[in-house]
Amino acid sequence: MTDLVADISAAEARVDQLRRQLTASTCREVGCDMQSYGGMNAGCGDGCGCSIPVNVCTRCGDCDYGDNARAVTTRAECAERSAA
Ligand SMILES: [Zn+2]
Ligand SMILES: [Zn+2]
Repeated sequence: MTDLVADISAAEARVDQLRRQLTASTCREVGCDMQSYGGMNAGCGDGCGCSIPVNVCTRCGDCDYGDNARAVTTRAECAERSAA
């Protein structure tokens, strides 16, 4: 009997997880509504102090943790500056 209860809670947890994944993937398909959430250190060099934006989707709560086009540009520009 206890096995059955454990099975059910495991299944419920799985359904929960799948439902969250579905929400997130549907949102990504139509395009997340990414809004600026703040900034973080670009971490591109030795204390260069570059900062990059962090965006969060207003619908599914997906966060890019600074993994965005702006961050790529910022790091590239910083590398150019330090190479010059
Ligand atoms: Zn989203
Ligand atoms: Zn930098």
